[in-house]
Amino acid sequence: MTTSRQYRWQQKKIAEGRCARCGAKRKHYTILCDSCQISNRVRYQQRVGTQPWHKGKRGRPPKIPQPIRGRARS
Ligand SMILES: [Zn+2]
Repeated sequence: MTTSRQYRWQQKKIAEGRCARCGAKRKHYTILCDSCQISNRVRYQQRVGTQPWHKGKRGRPPKIPQPIRGRARS
């Protein structure tokens, strides 16, 4: 079984310490940069209907705070 060109590119970027989606420098997360991770989170919340994290409620706080609206730019 051969690995796809896309998968090889993603694995290379992860090994270099870069985002597997856009190639930007990673800081806090395992495979995605902060901007891609936040956009992933916002999309997931819209799809599933969950609410953002609030202080004093259940769950751990996000490593990067939720932006007020939409995707964070850095
Ligand atoms: Zn990215």
